[in-house]
Amino acid sequence: MKVLVINCGSSSLKYQLVNLGEYLVMAKGIADRVGLQLYESASLTHRVNERVWKYDVDMPDHYKAMEEVVKVLLHPEMGVIKSLEEIEAVGHRVVHGGERFTGSVLIDEEVERAIEECAALAPLHNPPNLTGIRAAKLYLSNIPHVAVFDTAFHSTIPPHAYIYALPYQLYEKHRIRRYGFHGTSHYYVSRKAMKYLEERFGIPPLDSKIITCHLGNGCSITAVLGGESVDTSMGFTPAEGLVMGTRCGDIDPAIVPFIIERENLSPKEVDDLLNKRSGLLGISGQTNDMRDIEEEIAKGNKRAKLAFDIFCYRVKKYIGAYAAAMGGVHAIVFTGGIGENGPMEREAICEGLEFLGVKINPQKNEETIKGREADISEENAEVRVLVIPTNEELVIAEETRRVVSLMKGSV
Ligand code: ADP
Repeated sequence: MKVLVINCGSSSLKYQLVNLGEYLVMAKGIADRVGLQLYESASLTHRVNERVWKYDVDMPDHYKAMEEVVKVLLHPEMGVIKSLEEIEAVGHRVVHGGERFTGSVLIDEEVERAIEECAALAPLHNPPNLTGIRAAKLYLSNIPHVAVFDTAFHSTIPPHAYIYALPYQLYEKHRIRRYGFHGTSHYYVSRKAMKYLEERFGIPPLDSKIITCHLGNGCSITAVLGGESVDTSMGFTPAEGLVMGTRCGDIDPAIVPFIIERENLSPKEVDDLLNKRSGLLGISGQTNDMRDIEEEIAKGNKRAKLAFDIFCYRVKKYIGAYAAAMGGVHAIVFTGGIGENGPMEREAICEGLEFLGVKINPQKNEETIKGREADISEENAEVRVLVIPTNEELVIAEETRRVVSLMKGSV
Protein backbone atom coordinates (compact mmCIF):
# COMPACT_ATOMS: atom_id res chain seq x y z
CA MET A 1 0.00 0.00 0.00
CA LYS A 2 1.36 3.42 -0.99
CA VAL A 3 0.61 6.18 1.52
CA LEU A 4 1.45 9.84 1.07
CA VAL A 5 2.40 11.47 4.38
CA ILE A 6 1.90 15.22 4.64
CA ASN A 7 3.25 17.51 7.37
CA CYS A 8 2.17 21.05 6.68
CA GLY A 9 3.70 23.95 8.63
CA SER A 10 3.02 27.68 8.37
CA SER A 11 5.47 28.18 5.49
CA SER A 12 6.42 24.63 4.54
CA LEU A 13 4.93 21.40 3.30
CA LYS A 14 6.88 18.21 3.99
CA TYR A 15 5.90 15.05 2.16
CA GLN A 16 6.92 11.43 2.06
CA LEU A 17 5.59 8.68 -0.17
CA VAL A 18 5.87 5.38 1.66
CA ASN A 19 5.32 1.92 0.23
CA LEU A 20 4.19 0.05 3.32
CA GLY A 21 4.33 -3.32 1.58
CA GLU A 22 8.11 -3.08 1.39
CA TYR A 23 8.65 -0.47 4.13
CA LEU A 24 10.24 1.67 1.48
CA VAL A 25 10.43 5.45 1.35
CA MET A 26 9.84 6.00 -2.37
CA ALA A 27 10.36 9.77 -2.30
CA LYS A 28 10.39 12.58 0.21
CA GLY A 29 10.89 16.29 0.24
CA ILE A 30 9.93 19.72 1.40
CA ALA A 31 8.30 22.75 -0.17
CA ASP A 32 9.93 25.63 1.67
CA ARG A 33 9.14 29.32 2.11
CA VAL A 34 5.57 28.76 0.94
CA GLY A 35 3.63 32.03 0.93
CA LEU A 36 6.69 34.09 1.84
CA GLN A 37 7.69 36.49 -0.87
CA LEU A 38 10.42 38.48 0.80
CA TYR A 39 13.96 38.10 -0.47
CA GLU A 40 14.32 34.49 -1.42
CA SER A 41 11.81 32.60 -3.53
CA ALA A 42 10.11 29.41 -2.46
CA SER A 43 11.89 26.17 -3.26
CA LEU A 44 11.18 22.50 -3.55
CA THR A 45 13.69 19.90 -2.39
CA HIS A 46 12.89 16.40 -3.58
CA ARG A 47 14.75 13.20 -2.74
CA VAL A 48 14.60 9.74 -4.25
CA ASN A 49 17.09 7.44 -2.50
CA GLU A 50 20.44 9.23 -2.77
CA ARG A 51 19.36 11.62 -5.54
CA VAL A 52 18.36 15.15 -4.57
CA TRP A 53 16.80 17.91 -6.67
CA LYS A 54 16.31 21.46 -5.44
CA TYR A 55 14.72 24.18 -7.50
CA ASP A 56 13.02 27.54 -7.00
CA VAL A 57 9.35 27.65 -7.81
CA ASP A 58 6.66 30.21 -7.11
CA MET A 59 4.42 28.91 -4.31
CA PRO A 60 2.20 31.70 -3.01
CA ASP A 61 0.14 29.27 -0.91
CA HIS A 62 -0.09 25.64 0.21
CA TYR A 63 -2.44 24.75 -2.66
CA LYS A 64 0.28 25.69 -5.13
CA ALA A 65 2.82 23.80 -2.98
CA MET A 66 0.64 20.68 -3.12
CA GLU A 67 0.32 21.06 -6.88
CA GLU A 68 4.13 21.10 -7.11
CA VAL A 69 4.41 17.99 -4.94
CA VAL A 70 1.95 16.17 -7.19
CA LYS A 71 3.88 17.31 -10.27
CA VAL A 72 7.23 16.16 -8.94
CA LEU A 73 5.86 12.76 -7.86
CA LEU A 74 4.56 12.22 -11.42
CA HIS A 75 7.57 13.78 -13.19
CA PRO A 76 9.20 11.54 -15.84
CA GLU A 77 12.68 11.94 -14.33
CA MET A 78 12.21 12.92 -10.68
CA GLY A 79 8.91 11.10 -10.17
CA VAL A 80 8.24 7.69 -8.63
CA ILE A 81 4.67 6.98 -9.75
CA LYS A 82 2.94 6.94 -13.12
CA SER A 83 -0.52 7.92 -11.93
CA LEU A 84 -2.00 9.45 -8.79
CA GLU A 85 -4.21 6.39 -8.59
CA GLU A 86 -1.23 4.48 -7.23
CA ILE A 87 -1.55 6.45 -3.98
CA GLU A 88 -4.12 4.68 -1.82
CA ALA A 89 -4.37 7.02 1.17
CA VAL A 90 -2.97 10.21 2.66
CA GLY A 91 -1.83 10.54 6.27
CA HIS A 92 -1.68 14.03 7.76
CA ARG A 93 0.26 15.14 10.81
CA VAL A 94 -2.00 17.31 12.93
CA VAL A 95 -0.41 18.95 15.95
CA HIS A 96 -3.34 19.44 18.29
CA GLY A 97 -6.24 17.05 18.78
CA GLY A 98 -7.44 18.68 22.00
CA GLU A 99 -9.30 16.40 24.41
CA ARG A 100 -11.46 15.00 21.67
CA PHE A 101 -8.97 13.07 19.53
CA THR A 102 -7.27 10.31 21.47
CA GLY A 103 -6.32 8.41 18.33
CA SER A 104 -6.01 8.73 14.56
CA VAL A 105 -9.21 9.34 12.58
CA LEU A 106 -10.55 9.33 9.06
CA ILE A 107 -11.01 12.95 8.01
CA ASP A 108 -14.53 14.02 7.09
CA GLU A 109 -16.11 17.46 7.23
CA GLU A 110 -16.96 17.08 10.89
CA VAL A 111 -13.36 16.18 11.75
CA GLU A 112 -12.13 19.17 9.74
CA ARG A 113 -14.40 21.40 11.81
CA ALA A 114 -13.12 19.87 15.04
CA ILE A 115 -9.50 20.42 13.95
CA GLU A 116 -10.45 24.01 13.23
CA GLU A 117 -11.90 24.33 16.73
CA CYS A 118 -8.65 22.98 18.22
CA ALA A 119 -6.86 25.85 16.45
CA ALA A 120 -7.71 28.03 19.44
CA LEU A 121 -5.30 25.80 21.40
CA ALA A 122 -2.61 25.67 18.67
CA PRO A 123 -2.98 28.84 16.60
CA LEU A 124 0.40 28.43 14.91
CA HIS A 125 0.05 24.79 14.00
CA ASN A 126 -3.51 23.61 13.39
CA PRO A 127 -4.48 26.20 10.72
CA PRO A 128 -1.60 25.20 8.39
CA ASN A 129 -2.27 21.51 9.14
CA LEU A 130 -5.86 22.04 8.03
CA THR A 131 -4.79 23.93 4.92
CA GLY A 132 -2.54 20.97 4.08
CA ILE A 133 -5.53 18.63 4.43
CA ARG A 134 -7.70 20.78 2.16
CA ALA A 135 -4.96 21.21 -0.44
CA ALA A 136 -4.22 17.47 -0.52
CA LYS A 137 -7.94 16.66 -0.81
CA LEU A 138 -8.14 18.87 -3.85
CA TYR A 139 -5.60 16.78 -5.77
CA LEU A 140 -6.31 13.42 -4.17
CA SER A 141 -10.05 13.58 -3.75
CA ASN A 142 -11.15 9.97 -4.09
CA ILE A 143 -9.00 8.35 -1.44
CA PRO A 144 -9.16 8.33 2.36
CA HIS A 145 -7.33 11.05 4.30
CA VAL A 146 -6.37 10.28 7.90
CA ALA A 147 -5.34 12.67 10.69
CA VAL A 148 -2.63 11.55 13.12
CA PHE A 149 -2.34 13.81 16.15
CA ASP A 150 0.82 14.81 18.03
CA THR A 151 -1.18 14.97 21.23
CA ALA A 152 -2.94 11.58 20.94
CA PHE A 153 -0.27 9.39 22.58
CA HIS A 154 -0.47 11.59 25.67
CA SER A 155 -4.22 11.14 26.13
CA THR A 156 -3.47 8.47 28.78
CA ILE A 157 -1.82 10.98 31.13
CA PRO A 158 -3.82 10.99 34.39
CA PRO A 159 -5.45 14.19 35.76
CA HIS A 160 -2.90 14.59 38.58
CA ALA A 161 -0.26 15.04 35.86
CA TYR A 162 -2.28 17.11 33.39
CA ILE A 163 -4.18 19.58 35.57
CA TYR A 164 -2.30 22.77 36.46
CA ALA A 165 -2.64 24.22 39.94
CA LEU A 166 -4.62 27.18 38.61
CA PRO A 167 -8.27 28.00 39.39
CA TYR A 168 -10.09 24.87 38.16
CA GLN A 169 -12.56 27.00 36.22
CA LEU A 170 -9.80 27.87 33.74
CA TYR A 171 -9.65 24.21 32.82
CA GLU A 172 -13.42 23.98 32.54
CA LYS A 173 -13.78 27.21 30.60
CA HIS A 174 -10.73 27.22 28.33
CA ARG A 175 -9.46 23.62 28.54
CA ILE A 176 -6.16 24.86 29.96
CA ARG A 177 -4.26 21.68 30.85
CA ARG A 178 -1.20 19.68 29.84
CA TYR A 179 -1.65 18.12 26.40
CA GLY A 180 1.92 17.19 25.44
CA PHE A 181 3.37 17.02 21.92
CA HIS A 182 5.83 14.91 19.87
CA GLY A 183 3.49 12.02 20.71
CA THR A 184 4.15 10.16 17.47
CA SER A 185 7.88 10.15 18.16
CA HIS A 186 7.56 9.11 21.82
CA TYR A 187 5.17 6.35 20.74
CA TYR A 188 7.53 5.04 18.05
CA VAL A 189 10.71 4.94 20.13
CA SER A 190 8.98 3.60 23.24
CA ARG A 191 7.54 0.70 21.21
CA LYS A 192 11.02 -0.11 19.90
CA ALA A 193 12.45 0.05 23.43
CA MET A 194 9.68 -2.19 24.80
CA LYS A 195 10.42 -4.80 22.18
CA TYR A 196 14.15 -4.67 22.95
CA LEU A 197 13.61 -4.91 26.71
CA GLU A 198 11.36 -7.93 26.26
CA GLU A 199 13.59 -9.75 23.81
CA ARG A 200 16.92 -9.09 25.54
CA PHE A 201 15.93 -8.86 29.19
CA GLY A 202 12.56 -10.60 29.45
CA ILE A 203 10.81 -7.49 30.73
CA PRO A 204 7.08 -7.84 29.94
CA PRO A 205 5.93 -4.80 27.89
CA LEU A 206 3.08 -4.10 30.32
CA ASP A 207 5.57 -3.79 33.21
CA SER A 208 8.10 -1.68 31.33
CA LYS A 209 9.17 1.74 32.62
CA ILE A 210 10.72 3.85 29.90
CA ILE A 211 11.79 7.48 29.70
CA THR A 212 11.93 8.79 26.13
CA CYS A 213 13.94 11.97 25.44
CA HIS A 214 13.10 13.62 22.10
CA LEU A 215 15.88 16.19 21.75
CA GLY A 216 15.73 18.12 18.49
CA ASN A 217 15.06 21.76 17.81
CA GLY A 218 11.95 21.19 19.90
CA CYS A 219 12.58 18.98 22.93
CA SER A 220 10.32 16.93 25.17
CA ILE A 221 10.61 14.00 27.53
CA THR A 222 7.96 11.42 28.36
CA ALA A 223 7.40 8.82 31.07
CA VAL A 224 6.03 5.68 29.40
CA LEU A 225 4.64 3.13 31.85
CA GLY A 226 3.51 -0.20 30.43
CA GLY A 227 3.41 1.39 26.98
CA GLU A 228 1.28 4.38 28.01
CA SER A 229 2.35 7.97 28.35
CA VAL A 230 1.83 8.92 32.01
CA ASP A 231 3.58 12.30 31.98
CA THR A 232 5.34 14.54 29.51
CA SER A 233 7.27 17.77 29.72
CA MET A 234 5.51 19.87 27.07
CA GLY A 235 2.25 21.21 28.39
CA PHE A 236 -0.59 23.43 27.26
CA THR A 237 1.79 24.54 24.49
CA PRO A 238 5.18 23.22 23.36
CA ALA A 239 6.94 25.97 25.37
CA GLU A 240 6.99 24.07 28.70
CA GLY A 241 9.61 21.67 29.99
CA LEU A 242 13.07 21.23 28.54
CA VAL A 243 15.33 23.96 27.18
CA MET A 244 14.97 23.95 23.39
CA GLY A 245 16.58 25.62 20.38
CA THR A 246 14.60 28.82 20.83
CA ARG A 247 12.01 27.98 23.54
CA CYS A 248 12.63 28.62 27.21
CA GLY A 249 10.99 25.54 28.76
CA ASP A 250 10.17 25.79 32.49
CA ILE A 251 10.38 29.24 34.02
CA ASP A 252 8.76 30.94 36.98
CA PRO A 253 5.38 32.05 35.54
CA ALA A 254 5.63 35.33 37.47
CA ILE A 255 8.50 36.33 35.16
CA VAL A 256 5.96 36.81 32.36
CA PRO A 257 3.97 39.74 33.83
CA PHE A 258 7.26 41.15 35.17
CA ILE A 259 8.90 41.36 31.73
CA ILE A 260 5.67 42.53 30.11
CA GLU A 261 5.77 45.48 32.47
CA ARG A 262 9.53 46.18 32.54
CA GLU A 263 10.14 45.66 28.83
CA ASN A 264 6.81 47.08 27.81
CA LEU A 265 5.83 44.07 25.69
CA SER A 266 2.51 43.06 24.17
CA PRO A 267 1.22 39.49 24.71
CA LYS A 268 2.33 38.61 21.16
CA GLU A 269 5.81 40.02 21.79
CA VAL A 270 6.26 38.11 25.03
CA ASP A 271 5.05 34.95 23.30
CA ASP A 272 7.70 35.51 20.62
CA LEU A 273 10.36 36.10 23.26
CA LEU A 274 9.53 32.83 25.07
CA ASN A 275 9.18 30.73 21.91
CA LYS A 276 11.59 32.24 19.38
CA ARG A 277 14.26 34.17 21.25
CA SER A 278 14.93 31.98 24.29
CA GLY A 279 16.43 28.53 24.82
CA LEU A 280 19.91 27.82 23.43
CA LEU A 281 19.62 30.94 21.26
CA GLY A 282 18.63 33.18 24.14
CA ILE A 283 21.32 31.96 26.53
CA SER A 284 24.17 31.80 24.01
CA GLY A 285 23.08 34.99 22.25
CA GLN A 286 24.31 33.35 19.02
CA THR A 287 22.67 30.17 17.88
CA ASN A 288 19.81 27.73 18.38
CA ASP A 289 21.80 24.91 16.79
CA MET A 290 23.53 22.45 19.10
CA ARG A 291 26.31 21.78 16.59
CA ASP A 292 27.22 25.47 16.64
CA ILE A 293 27.02 25.48 20.44
CA GLU A 294 29.55 22.62 20.49
CA GLU A 295 31.85 24.51 18.13
CA GLU A 296 31.65 27.63 20.26
CA ILE A 297 32.40 25.62 23.40
CA ALA A 298 35.54 24.27 21.69
CA LYS A 299 36.59 27.87 21.06
CA GLY A 300 36.15 28.69 24.74
CA ASN A 301 32.82 30.55 24.49
CA LYS A 302 31.48 30.63 28.07
CA ARG A 303 27.87 31.51 27.22
CA ALA A 304 27.71 28.58 24.80
CA LYS A 305 29.00 26.32 27.59
CA LEU A 306 26.38 27.74 29.94
CA ALA A 307 23.64 27.05 27.36
CA PHE A 308 24.90 23.47 27.00
CA ASP A 309 25.04 22.94 30.78
CA ILE A 310 21.54 24.32 31.36
CA PHE A 311 20.19 22.18 28.51
CA CYS A 312 21.68 18.94 29.85
CA TYR A 313 20.91 19.69 33.50
CA ARG A 314 17.22 20.20 32.67
CA VAL A 315 17.01 16.83 30.91
CA LYS A 316 18.75 15.12 33.83
CA LYS A 317 16.31 16.69 36.31
CA TYR A 318 13.33 15.41 34.32
CA ILE A 319 14.80 11.91 34.12
CA GLY A 320 14.98 11.90 37.93
CA ALA A 321 11.42 13.21 38.18
CA TYR A 322 10.01 10.62 35.78
CA ALA A 323 11.90 7.75 37.41
CA ALA A 324 10.20 8.86 40.64
CA ALA A 325 6.82 9.18 38.90
CA MET A 326 7.04 5.58 37.63
CA GLY A 327 8.77 4.08 40.68
CA GLY A 328 11.86 3.18 38.62
CA VAL A 329 13.13 3.02 35.09
CA HIS A 330 14.24 0.18 32.81
CA ALA A 331 15.41 2.25 29.85
CA ILE A 332 16.19 5.81 28.86
CA VAL A 333 15.83 6.47 25.15
CA PHE A 334 17.54 9.27 23.23
CA THR A 335 16.07 10.39 19.92
CA GLY A 336 15.76 13.53 17.71
CA GLY A 337 18.65 15.41 16.07
CA ILE A 338 20.56 15.93 19.33
CA GLY A 339 19.51 12.69 21.02
CA GLU A 340 20.54 10.59 18.02
CA ASN A 341 23.75 12.43 17.08
CA GLY A 342 25.08 14.05 20.24
CA PRO A 343 27.36 11.83 22.37
CA MET A 344 28.55 14.87 24.33
CA GLU A 345 24.99 15.73 25.37
CA ARG A 346 24.12 12.10 26.18
CA GLU A 347 27.21 11.80 28.36
CA ALA A 348 26.54 15.05 30.23
CA ILE A 349 22.88 14.09 30.80
CA CYS A 350 23.71 10.62 32.12
CA GLU A 351 26.60 11.75 34.32
CA GLY A 352 25.50 11.62 37.94
CA LEU A 353 22.61 9.23 37.29
CA GLU A 354 24.64 6.22 38.45
CA PHE A 355 22.52 6.11 41.62
CA LEU A 356 19.56 5.15 39.39
CA GLY A 357 21.54 2.33 37.77
CA VAL A 358 22.60 4.31 34.69
CA LYS A 359 26.09 3.50 33.43
CA ILE A 360 26.94 4.37 29.84
CA ASN A 361 29.89 2.88 27.98
CA PRO A 362 31.93 5.86 26.63
CA GLN A 363 33.09 3.99 23.55
CA LYS A 364 29.61 2.75 22.63
CA ASN A 365 28.30 6.26 23.20
CA GLU A 366 30.90 7.73 20.81
CA GLU A 367 30.54 5.07 18.16
CA THR A 368 26.83 5.08 17.39
CA ILE A 369 26.09 4.93 13.67
CA LYS A 370 23.74 7.51 12.16
CA GLY A 371 20.30 6.02 11.55
CA ARG A 372 20.99 2.87 13.62
CA GLU A 373 19.68 1.80 17.00
CA ALA A 374 22.22 1.26 19.77
CA ASP A 375 22.37 0.22 23.41
CA ILE A 376 25.11 2.45 24.81
CA SER A 377 25.03 1.17 28.41
CA GLU A 378 27.60 -1.01 30.11
CA GLU A 379 26.67 -4.69 29.91
CA ASN A 380 26.02 -4.89 33.67
CA ALA A 381 24.10 -1.61 33.96
CA GLU A 382 20.67 -1.88 35.58
CA VAL A 383 19.17 0.76 33.29
CA ARG A 384 19.54 0.48 29.51
CA VAL A 385 20.43 3.70 27.73
CA LEU A 386 19.28 3.43 24.12
CA VAL A 387 19.73 5.56 21.01
CA ILE A 388 16.74 5.01 18.71
CA PRO A 389 16.28 7.09 15.52
CA THR A 390 12.73 8.31 15.39
CA ASN A 391 10.46 7.84 12.38
CA GLU A 392 7.28 9.86 12.72
CA GLU A 393 6.39 9.49 9.04
CA LEU A 394 6.37 5.71 9.32
CA VAL A 395 3.98 5.90 12.30
CA ILE A 396 1.71 8.24 10.34
CA ALA A 397 1.76 5.91 7.32
CA GLU A 398 1.03 2.85 9.48
CA GLU A 399 -1.71 4.62 11.39
CA THR A 400 -3.24 5.64 8.08
CA ARG A 401 -3.24 2.05 6.88
CA ARG A 402 -4.78 0.88 10.18
CA VAL A 403 -7.60 3.45 10.06
CA VAL A 404 -8.28 2.70 6.39
CA SER A 405 -8.43 -1.05 6.98
CA LEU A 406 -10.83 -0.52 9.92
CA MET A 407 -12.97 1.61 7.64
CA LYS A 408 -12.98 -1.04 4.92
CA GLY A 409 -13.78 -3.73 7.47
CA SER A 410 -16.79 -1.81 8.66
CA VAL A 411 -18.33 -1.36 5.20
P1 ADP B 1 13.49 19.28 14.53
O1 ADP B 1 13.06 19.34 15.96
O2 ADP B 1 13.37 20.60 13.82
O3 ADP B 1 12.94 18.09 13.77
P2 ADP B 1 16.00 17.82 14.58
O4 ADP B 1 15.40 16.65 15.29
O5 ADP B 1 16.54 17.62 13.23
O6 ADP B 1 15.06 19.09 14.59
O7 ADP B 1 17.19 18.37 15.52
C1 ADP B 1 17.90 19.53 15.25
C2 ADP B 1 18.98 19.67 16.32
O8 ADP B 1 19.83 18.52 16.26
C3 ADP B 1 19.87 20.89 16.11
O9 ADP B 1 20.10 21.54 17.35
C4 ADP B 1 21.16 20.25 15.63
O10 ADP B 1 22.27 21.01 15.97
C5 ADP B 1 21.16 18.95 16.39
N1 ADP B 1 22.14 18.04 15.83
C6 ADP B 1 22.18 17.48 14.60
N2 ADP B 1 23.32 16.77 14.45
C7 ADP B 1 24.00 16.89 15.61
C8 ADP B 1 25.25 16.40 16.11
N3 ADP B 1 26.03 15.64 15.34
N4 ADP B 1 25.62 16.72 17.37
C9 ADP B 1 24.84 17.49 18.16
N5 ADP B 1 23.66 17.99 17.74
C10 ADP B 1 23.26 17.70 16.51
